[in-house]
Amino acid sequence: MPEVHATIESFRAALDAARAGGATVGFVPTMGYLHEGHGSLMRAATRECDLAAASIFVNPLQFAANEDLTDYPRDLDRDLALADDCGVGHVLVPSVEEMYPTPILTTVTVADITARFEGAARPEHFAGVATVVAKLFSLVGPCRAYFGEKDYQQLAVVRRMALDLSMPVTVVGCPIIREDDGLAMSSRNVYLSPAQRAAAPVLHRSLVAAVDAAARGERSVAAVEAVVAGAVAAEPEAVLDYAALVDAATLEPATEVSGHQRLLVAARFGTTRLLDNIAVTS
Ligand code: AMP
Repeated sequence: MPEVHATIESFRAALDAARAGGATVGFVPTMGYLHEGHGSLMRAATRECDLAAASIFVNPLQFAANEDLTDYPRDLDRDLALADDCGVGHVLVPSVEEMYPTPILTTVTVADITARFEGAARPEHFAGVATVVAKLFSLVGPCRAYFGEKDYQQLAVVRRMALDLSMPVTVVGCPIIREDDGLAMSSRNVYLSPAQRAAAPVLHRSLVAAVDAAARGERSVAAVEAVVAGAVAAEPEAVLDYAALVDAATLEPATEVSGHQRLLVAARFGTTRLLDNIAVTS
């Protein structure tokens, strides 16, 4: 089983000692309730680094008052068993008091990339994410840090923060892990009713249909986005938040279908918001 650390001090000491002995460190930050999506990040960290470490912390800063902070699913024993199976050596499981012993006065905000999409739907969200990830990077130290493409905008925000602030961290993006029916794995999928769960694969299906349209030569951004919007609109359990084709690196909205792009989708199934995305290369 991995060594579990309740304090920043002991986690930092373990990783510092490993690096002092010449080991490279791979780090996977999570909010727990781990699934194979998280597992793929932890396995990549174990494969590519001498020592893999993870954190499990449901970060209050990134939840708005009306969001699911208190309901967020938790199962530490199962999480540690999966971390163990993935070869993780150290896991930080701090309390909120350990992470934020005093009200936090210092926050990190990343401009531009956070203005649209998830940032528009959840105004404080990315400042909360950037602040906790900056804090985690600071206490972990030099490492490779693994993030899922599932949260594509978050990955872009973290990459940019590490670049702008010269953090000694290489941010590594990893592919989306899906259920057999195409639904992207997410800790929040447990909130779905049976009918919503049955409907949810429409997101991936609609993205694949849009990629097919682009591959057949569709060059209109609006038409590609409309493939997603149309499929989601046809599903009574789903309400579309956005379907947007963007530059894969800058997340700027596309003006034509060309080059390395990403098609992002967010939709609500009842009160549960689900995200998905896919590469569009033409
Ligand atoms: P979370 O615990 O939801 O904050 O997620 C922790 C990390 O796991 C983030 O980098 C997510 O992007 C990543 N992740 C979550 N779900 C998936 C998935 N289905 N495939 C790949 N990575 C994922």
